[in-house]
Amino acid sequence: MKVMKFGGTSIGTPDLFLKVAKIVSNRSEEEFTIVVLSAIGGITDKLLGAIDLAANGDKKYREILDEIKSIHYDFLYKAAAADNRQHVHDQTNKLLLELENKLKGVFLLKECSDRISDSIVTFGEYLSNNIMVGALKSLGKKCEFHDAKRLIRTNSNYGDAEVNFPITNHLLQEWFALLNKNHIPIVNGFTGSDENGHITTLGRSGSDFTATIIGGALNASLVEIWTDVDGVLSADPKVVPSAITLDWLSYNEASSLAVLGGKVIHPKTIAPVEKQNVPVSILNTFNPEVKGTFISSNNNVSDVHVKTITYLKGLSSISIFESESKYGQKILVRLFGIIARLEIPVVTISKSAYNQSISFFVQNEYEHLFLEEIRREFTLDIEKGFIGEILARSNLALITAIGIGSDFYSLVVRRIHDVLEKNGVKSLMFLDDLYSLNFSFIIDALEVNRTVIVLHDEFFGEYHYSKEVNKIVNVA
Ligand code: ADP
Ligand code: ASP
Ligand code: MG
Repeated sequence: MKVMKFGGTSIGTPDLFLKVAKIVSNRSEEEFTIVVLSAIGGITDKLLGAIDLAANGDKKYREILDEIKSIHYDFLYKAAAADNRQHVHDQTNKLLLELENKLKGVFLLKECSDRISDSIVTFGEYLSNNIMVGALKSLGKKCEFHDAKRLIRTNSNYGDAEVNFPITNHLLQEWFALLNKNHIPIVNGFTGSDENGHITTLGRSGSDFTATIIGGALNASLVEIWTDVDGVLSADPKVVPSAITLDWLSYNEASSLAVLGGKVIHPKTIAPVEKQNVPVSILNTFNPEVKGTFISSNNNVSDVHVKTITYLKGLSSISIFESESKYGQKILVRLFGIIARLEIPVVTISKSAYNQSISFFVQNEYEHLFLEEIRREFTLDIEKGFIGEILARSNLALITAIGIGSDFYSLVVRRIHDVLEKNGVKSLMFLDDLYSLNFSFIIDALEVNRTVIVLHDEFFGEYHYSKEVNKIVNVA
């Protein structure tokens, strides 16, 4: 049994939607297949935009709603043949009416809780999944929609809920045991529910995670993530169009990439399959014959200098300078207290050996909150002169070279330093990660594209399309 997940980019137009239906129809012949489907490309953003306008009492939310309606009717008419259309049409009407009523409620109340927002934003998935059922039936396939709300149990952290794996695995295994294996099950990505039955979401781009949660729980032979690129590439192709496709990655490399900015998979995607040793393939809907990138545990050692270069934008640094160095440990305890209390996800930390300063790197959205709390916590210390300056700097980015061959680590670090120096890129700090075999550094976000391009050129520039050559030449 395998899982096939299709993202919004794979179903961005009616033609693509039909193409996906055909890929599913053909490939599900080979092996029993569970399909996980996201919302049509761009719909989740439109839903969030409509919620925002409605919550501000702005009638313009109705224009977005009308757009959402006409997109889905257009897809429905093009993807479902006339004799299969009626039921899908009725379901679409029902879903759109429910969506309209919810948005109207938000508009009248002029507010929207995170819980209500999740219940609205998941309509994108319900709508696309319903149309996919129609499209597959039109191709003569037996298929059935199964609501992830009943299969994936989370906590109530709406917008980015944590999965309760013991319950979810049990629900999925129970569901699978009773599943009619003559039908292709279509499951809505991104969606779960909490213990009170309220809808939750798994974070933006969370359908990748839905696919591996299912694949891990059911010990699938493979999870296929179908997207708009040939696989995992040596850099984001939007920055480096000549980036090459990687044949394989280890779980650790794929997970590093996902967490450190590589948008191609959601940051939590790897953990559920890694535990069960289920491999993942990244495949291209636009180019289905290409074999893509294979992610598994068999590939734990990188045999090239660098596998891929990634970037994470939107970071801020907050630096605290002390006046009395003996004071250091106490300050650290109190700073970490703030981080724990406010649940601030710190990306990385840098501390001078002499206890003179400590810098925290966080997502921009936490900068203000963290800074305020530090100023509040240390008011007296600042007055007494124990603490010197507290400085914040926004718009930073973390660049990471992922999957460094262990024999080449110091050589790769040297090459990176040389490239930065040659190109006049100033880094605020460098981070060795010998355990995961990555190397990162922090720069001004304005420098990201230029830096990724020159680094990519250094490691992959002249030797496109040949991993072997890349290896040999890099060693020399
Ligand atoms: P989907 O809608 O299928 O979930 P996403 O837009 O979330 O697709 O992810 C695919 C995108 O990820 C690609 O179009 C590409 O721009 C981006 N990306 C970033 N880094 C990489 C990388 N190293 N390899 C491949 N794609 C990457
Ligand atoms: N539709 C959701 C989003 O846009 C989930 C996903 O695409 O995976 O974030
Ligand atoms: Mg995605």
